[in-house]
Amino acid sequence: MRKPYKPGCHWDVPWVGQCGKEFADNSVYCEQHEGKECCICKKQATHGCDTTLGPLVCGYALCDDVECYIQHVEQHHGSFDIRTKAAQDSVRERNPEMADAWADEWNREKEYLRSEQTT
Ligand SMILES: [Zn+2]
Ligand SMILES: [Zn+2]
Ligand SMILES: [Zn+2]
Repeated sequence: MRKPYKPGCHWDVPWVGQCGKEFADNSVYCEQHEGKECCICKKQATHGCDTTLGPLVCGYALCDDVECYIQHVEQHHGSFDIRTKAAQDSVRERNPEMADAWADEWNREKEYLRSEQTT
């Protein structure tokens, strides 16, 4: 998955790249990132979510498990991300065909992400 390309903290900062600060004791992360929990599974997270919300980057802590990413997107990007169920429901009332197309697109992306994870 994500391979550190420079010395120092392995944390992947969204849209910036590897953190690279000095390691905390007994860690491959710096003090700021050591012990950061994945917002879904509560294991050590490896990076911030790089989904953009308008001009902002989400930045929620996530591990490398694609299932955590999928759950996070479905839970936290409801009002911003067309792929989530809440957004689909509101679109579905006005334009059912578009809602179906979005649902298909997100399902394909999930399949793709899961296939990436296992290979
Ligand atoms: Zn760091
Ligand atoms: Zn996780
Ligand atoms: Zn996010």
